[in-house]
Amino acid sequence: MKAAICYEAGKPLVVDEVTLDKPDKGEVKVRVGAVAVCHSDLHAVKGELHGKLPGVAGHEVAGYVEEIGEGVTQVAVGDHVVASAVNAGCGHCYQCNIGLRHMCTGIDIRAMMAKGGHHIDKNGVRLAPMAGPIAGFAEYTVVSQYNLARIPQDLPMDRACLLACGVMTGFGAVHNRAQVKPLSSVIAIGAGGVGMNIIQGAVHAGAYPIIAVDIRDDKLEMARKFGATHTVNTAKEKDPAEAVRKLTGGRGADYGFLTVGSMEALRTGFNMLGRRGMMVVIGIAMGKLEAFTAGEFIGSEKILTGSMMGSSRLDIDVARYAELYKAGQLKLDELIAGHFPLAKINDAIKSLEGGAVLRNIITF
Ligand SMILES: [Zn+2]
Ligand SMILES: [Zn+2]
Repeated sequence: MKAAICYEAGKPLVVDEVTLDKPDKGEVKVRVGAVAVCHSDLHAVKGELHGKLPGVAGHEVAGYVEEIGEGVTQVAVGDHVVASAVNAGCGHCYQCNIGLRHMCTGIDIRAMMAKGGHHIDKNGVRLAPMAGPIAGFAEYTVVSQYNLARIPQDLPMDRACLLACGVMTGFGAVHNRAQVKPLSSVIAIGAGGVGMNIIQGAVHAGAYPIIAVDIRDDKLEMARKFGATHTVNTAKEKDPAEAVRKLTGGRGADYGFLTVGSMEALRTGFNMLGRRGMMVVIGIAMGKLEAFTAGEFIGSEKILTGSMMGSSRLDIDVARYAELYKAGQLKLDELIAGHFPLAKINDAIKSLEGGAVLRNIITF
């Protein structure tokens, strides 16, 4: 089979023939139908995640179950599935039993990554998975059954793969983590792929106003298409926090969602919150929280927290999003900028680097 191999950080991927192991106990071989190129893949192939090389990125996969290993109970051959970096949980541990399956302690992710991810071989060299355990920039992948969620057979693969990461992360942060209340105000800091899904999640939650915050007008324009009621361009606004207060009755926002990986954006966003406001961190910001004082958490009772891939229950949430899409209540088509064959994956990556494109999809 063919895979897009990253030999050297920052260099173009090399599409080449590789061999793939058969699925081991608890594992599933998936024929990839579509895989989205996400910014996490960009970070990985540029070497910013400091993963092992050579490797294969790609973590937003939709495909067909081709073969199952011993003891697989979650899916059957012929099922249509998405493969996601978040796992569905063992179903038996304390966290799974209280409904927080993304916090599962019953599955050893590190052991799974070390073993389950190293299925691809090129001339005797094992290729490491990058940006999660999926290694989806390939015609086939072998993954743990716990990384799979079944999808309806009539859901197109290029739409379905979006559910594996961006949609789940944005929608889930709003509904599962923050549990945004109707008529409360929301700011989405960063109007990229995940930001758009925060905005459409906030629409579903009945929030108002929904304020998109970014430094680019073209992205803010796009945010309005996904349901943002207002926008704030932090590059143009002298006092962005004041601009948000003006839009929220002078109070500041009830909920903030940060998809920009910058400590400065986190500080700016925290200032945009009102009393008891909650900031949910989603984008990985490298840095320390030095700009915060303990006192400001007491005086305002603000909350600073995070959300791990939308705090998702993989199989339940993916099935719900699939239904929403089919009912015309979830925008997926609008997230797609272009389709590319695997042989043109470097073009798909390059066009994503410009920043204006939401998702490019590799189809097979
Ligand atoms: Zn992703
Ligand atoms: Zn568990």
